[in-house]
Amino acid sequence: MSILNPDFSVTLKKFGAFDTSMCYNCGNCTAICSLSDTDNSFPRNMIRASVLGLEDKIQRSLDPWNCYYCGECSSTCPREANPGELMMSLRRYLTAAYDWTGLSKKFYTSKIWELVAIVLLATVVLVLFLLYHGPMETTLTEQGGVKLNTFAPWKTIEIGDWIMAGFLSFFLLSNVFNMYRKVILKDKSVKVPLKLYFTELWKLIFHFATQWQFKKCSTEEENPDNKKKSVTYWIMHWLLMSGYVTLFVLIVGFLEWFQTDEIHNWWHPQRLLGYYATFGLTAGIIYFTAIRLKKNNEKSKFSHYTDWTFLILLFLTTISGILVHIFRINGMPNPTYYMYVFHLMVLFPMLMIEVPFSKWSHLAYRPFSIYFNSLKNAAKK
Ligand code: SF4
Ligand code: SF4
Repeated sequence: MSILNPDFSVTLKKFGAFDTSMCYNCGNCTAICSLSDTDNSFPRNMIRASVLGLEDKIQRSLDPWNCYYCGECSSTCPREANPGELMMSLRRYLTAAYDWTGLSKKFYTSKIWELVAIVLLATVVLVLFLLYHGPMETTLTEQGGVKLNTFAPWKTIEIGDWIMAGFLSFFLLSNVFNMYRKVILKDKSVKVPLKLYFTELWKLIFHFATQWQFKKCSTEEENPDNKKKSVTYWIMHWLLMSGYVTLFVLIVGFLEWFQTDEIHNWWHPQRLLGYYATFGLTAGIIYFTAIRLKKNNEKSKFSHYTDWTFLILLFLTTISGILVHIFRINGMPNPTYYMYVFHLMVLFPMLMIEVPFSKWSHLAYRPFSIYFNSLKNAAKK
């Protein structure tokens, strides 16, 4: 039996939702949403659960992750109850509900907590550099580049990268396990046979690699402009994600190959991969900042402060990375060293906060949600 929380709408408002009592249950949103069918009145079932404060039911549901925020329900809602934004808030709420450390809830509901965490992690990086950096060599390499590995040896930085990757993987995966516990293990109506975990695995891999769900648009036949917007959104989201993943793999797995004092030709794979990652990140940052400022579609009309924190951290990480590269290949030692420290001071909190506890975690939760859903459906069949 579900436990009622009469104050749930107050809790949800902290995650960005509007007044849930605005909804008078007309069903327009369900009529327009492509995810709705005879068995699932989508998104009305989640709106009702939010109004009634059925926290258990919401935590056991995967519905909020299946919504790709086309925003059509919001634009057809006669009461301006913003069901699309409610689904977005539920995703933030669920991210906090899966997180056993409680940090996600703090970051989503308190600007002070998020700011303090960023400053604290940046300070840790600064102090480590002040204590352990190598000589600030001003002589240049034969090619006229900066000897960055004398100041920050790749071996030392790589150890730091591995520790960081270990921490964030542990927190993210343990939170994903919590999600699995709530939606599969606690669901007594279905028992998933072991074989299905393997046969359905391709869906997890496919949806993680493509983020295909963002390409959907329920009214594309009636309104081709919506389809165009969805495809553009998906491409930009994919560029941003693939740029980020490329860079993450390079710095965590191949730093010796990626951070060299030797300056390779521009067509060397090391530089091309770096340029691709920079291009993907820059294009994504410009696009998402522009749509959030323009507010010209439902998806970007309302921004939670964590949306902006994420974009700002990503922007500072990218721009400082570009500057390190420019200073390094143009033989400017001191600007390279200072910018490198600043780059890591932003990169470190960006990864440690955003990946396991905040905005970036949806990259894992969305494909896992599709995977868990297909496990349940296949098991029922
Ligand atoms: S369209 Fe608006 S008022 Fe109608 S059920 Fe959906 S959220 Fe409620
Ligand atoms: S935003 Fe789109 S996918 Fe999500 S509930 Fe509304 S209509 Fe459905």
